Amino acid sequence: MLPVIALVGRPNVGKSTLFNRLTKSRDALVADLPGLTRDRKYGEGRVGEKDYIVVDTGGITGDEKGIDYEMARQSLQAVDEADIVLFLVDGRAGLNPDDERLADYLRRKEKECFLVVNKTDGIDPDVAMGDFHGLGLGAPTPIAASHGRGVTALIEYVLQLVPDVEVDKALADVIDKSVKIAVVGRPNVGKSTLVNRMLGEDRVVVFDKAGTTRDSVYIPYERDGDAYTLIDTAGIRRRKNIKEAVEKFSIVKTLQAVRDANVVVVVIDAREGVTDQDLSMLSFVMDTGRSLVISLNKWDGMDYEQKERVREQIRRKLEFAGFARMHFISALHGSGVGDMYGSIDEAYQCAMEKWSTSKLTRLLEDMVADHQPPMVSGRRIKLRYAHQGGSNPPIIVVHGNQTDSLPGSYKRYLENKFTQVLAIKGTPVRFEFRTGD
Ligand code: GDP
Ligand code: GDP
Repeated sequence: MLPVIALVGRPNVGKSTLFNRLTKSRDALVADLPGLTRDRKYGEGRVGEKDYIVVDTGGITGDEKGIDYEMARQSLQAVDEADIVLFLVDGRAGLNPDDERLADYLRRKEKECFLVVNKTDGIDPDVAMGDFHGLGLGAPTPIAASHGRGVTALIEYVLQLVPDVEVDKALADVIDKSVKIAVVGRPNVGKSTLVNRMLGEDRVVVFDKAGTTRDSVYIPYERDGDAYTLIDTAGIRRRKNIKEAVEKFSIVKTLQAVRDANVVVVVIDAREGVTDQDLSMLSFVMDTGRSLVISLNKWDGMDYEQKERVREQIRRKLEFAGFARMHFISALHGSGVGDMYGSIDEAYQCAMEKWSTSKLTRLLEDMVADHQPPMVSGRRIKLRYAHQGGSNPPIIVVHGNQTDSLPGSYKRYLENKFTQVLAIKGTPVRFEFRTGD
């Protein structure tokens, strides 16, 4: 599980500037889940060998009322979920009453909280920091987010303070050898019901021990002799009522679970149809490259017309996730739930599969023989061989000359052919085209 760093501060102190800097590292993934996130932003970053999640809480002043209060409260949920809170203040503007209110709030939380004075470029940092000692949050650290000054050192420092979570060694081994499944989706789609159903099946042996890493629970179990672990985000298994469900919905835990899973089950409420939030969730999962199974839940009691409407929506809206198997289920009654395992296993195996260079090259040769690449300025593009560049998700690398000039349509032809002939299902496949070796 990645450590979570939350950026807190009143508007305009430089949170989003710092957020962008922290997520600029390679492979940073910024979750854009409109409607679920309000104005919060989530991203991944890395310093040295360490990955982390960073949350920009948006501007809060601690003085919000009415609807603003509600939003501020939700933003502050990010504080509860974080391992580290960076409290940003503006070294040029000096101390502000909103800073004091926020500091008050943060002091009452039992969190590692660091006072960070931003915008110290071109001014004397000691003078800039002078104002803020009185906030009672320890010694301030000066940075300049827009220049990056002090940022890496600060992040390295705070990350080494996050303790490694101790997981029972034997349990960790069991979990490592199993297929890790994350069940995600927007609030109320039936995740909790589904998880309980998956664990409640007759053929399931749930070990009496569960591993807790921070707030997520890892539940290892066996089904028909195969080992799985359900990653239970946001305590969906223990939850008591719907109100609590919505309140406890946590993007951070969803991010962490997806990242740590082998196969992600995205649950969609068929009665509501495919919503924009479902689509954001799906594209987020796809960006991570995880294997994917889509379950349309609450299929029970829907009439023919409703079902047709959903099917039509799926054709229209879910084409971009066409590699994933789709299941129409009722978590409540259990119908279709057992069948999901076939797709989970298949997706996992496809993601882990290894193909030899000779096999991939032979396939490439067949494809080229069937359908020659085009000529570019009088020379035919030559494709020489293909090899596997990685797995989970699988990467297929095609080598040749002038591959930069390969038309998109020809690349798609190869991609579709490889996917089809290798029977890859449930996992995205990445293709790379390289010139030279
Ligand atoms: P947020 O509202 O807290 O997210 O603040 P922003 O990141 O949008 O920054 C507010 C303004 O401060 C922008 O005009 C930034 O360019 C500026 N800013 C942010 N960081 C720095 C910095 O380190 N030095 C200076 N001089 N300006 C900064
Ligand atoms: P979560 O917030 O995604 O975990 O959703 P819950 O599992 O708490 O379910 C939300 C509501 O939908 C509850 O009232 C469930 O009883 C109901 N529900 C869940 N699955 C189904 C289903 O397959 N069919 C029907 N009709 N209702 C369901």
